[in-house]
Amino acid sequence: MKVGIIGGGASGTLVAAQLVRRGLSTAQISIFDRSGSCGFGAAYGASTDSYVLNVPAGKMSAFPDTPSHFSDWLVQRGLVAESEAASRFVSRRWYGQYLNELVADIEVESKEVNGVHLGSEVFEIDGRAFDHVVLALGNAEATLPALFSVYRDHPGYRNSTWKNLPNEIASEDRVLVIGTGLSMLDVLCELASRDFCGQVTAVSRHGLLPRSHQPTTPIPYTGAASVAEILRHIRNSENWRAAVDGLRPDSQAIWQRLPVKEKRQFLRHLRPYWEVHRHRAPASSYQLAQELIEAGRLRIQFASEFDPSETKFDWVFNATGPSQRLESRKVPVIESLVQRGLASYDELGLGLDPKSLHPGLHALGTLTLGTLWECTAVPDIRNQSAAIAAQILPATR
Ligand SMILES: Cc1cc2nc3c(=O)[nH]c(=O)nc-3n(C[C@H](O)[C@H](O)[C@H](O)COP(=O)(O)OP(=O)(O)OC[C@H]3O[C@@H](n4cnc5c(N)ncnc54)[C@H](O)[C@@H]3O)c2cc1C
Repeated sequence: MKVGIIGGGASGTLVAAQLVRRGLSTAQISIFDRSGSCGFGAAYGASTDSYVLNVPAGKMSAFPDTPSHFSDWLVQRGLVAESEAASRFVSRRWYGQYLNELVADIEVESKEVNGVHLGSEVFEIDGRAFDHVVLALGNAEATLPALFSVYRDHPGYRNSTWKNLPNEIASEDRVLVIGTGLSMLDVLCELASRDFCGQVTAVSRHGLLPRSHQPTTPIPYTGAASVAEILRHIRNSENWRAAVDGLRPDSQAIWQRLPVKEKRQFLRHLRPYWEVHRHRAPASSYQLAQELIEAGRLRIQFASEFDPSETKFDWVFNATGPSQRLESRKVPVIESLVQRGLASYDELGLGLDPKSLHPGLHALGTLTLGTLWECTAVPDIRNQSAAIAAQILPATR
């Protein structure tokens, strides 16, 4: 049995780790990643410690059945005291290191995969045969909204904040961040760590900042699969965090039961509100943003009120997040599968329809966004990884 995994970010790494746990030898697994490394991907590849996880370490274990696996790793390396390991929002760099170590014995091929072929019985990648192929392509780079296209050729423009910010940022520079979500908070944390004392302007369509994490006890949701009903439930709950968190175990099932029209309405009108309440920020990052706003050093602006010709900036960071519509991105490896009838896009064009995948082909993470919606954070990806490994190796050895 040979398994080829395309993408060595968190998703590909977690599938590989699950396969090894179920008895597959590392020599039977090949990971292809254009970066040549494994475990870091979009989220965990920066070398700064200012970028922290937005999920406490106790919920970031690679294995759903061993919840303390990551927090134990932190303690064993002396990075965090045992008493606080599970509740800490630690450096994303450490998480990348943790994932990387999980699959240290598996060879990673430094390669951009542009096509998967189906031979008589097996798949072929680059002339090599595989019984199973796992598509773990992950997050696509952000696209620059038209309003900001004037900055594309600006010497201080960076299309992503996922890697380190430039060292050349001077302490009094003027910074524009396009987007007001979690990546914008990353920028603020990184600048604060460098004693930056200049001005930051952050612009987005709705000007919404992520809310902060607070300890809560989730309230299970027992209502109907209807967006209006869920909204009412959250609004009527004494603690909206508890209501939102209570949706979590069922959010994929609820999404799948929603009529496609409601899904489209949710994406068009509610998505930014859902994102800031569901994917929350560590309290320290949230607090920093509030302090900067109060000090007049962080200005949050609506895109409708932003005029690029009004202010000059030294740096412009695109922090709008991964682009979402897989179908419009025309990713070569996906297009080749779709054209050969081995996979189809989902009804929203956000990802692939898992039911359409040819036997032996598997997809997870953002590729399943349209079908599952909540499938991009590690607590969701690790469940998908375990399920895919169980499909590939049904009988635990
Ligand atoms: C900035 C950021 C911070 C985040 N923070 C958290 C967090 O704190 N907690 C949490 O739970 N989730 C977080 N997330 C969610 C995140 O999506 C997942 O945790 C995780 O990064 C997803 O991993 P992935 O492997 O699916 O995607 P990615 O990390 O995008 O990895 C995909 C990999 O596939 C490779 N690849 C893609 N196409 C090809 C190809 N054709 N050929 C070869 N290689 C290819 C890429 O090089 C990349 O390494 C964050 C996301 C981002 C963007």
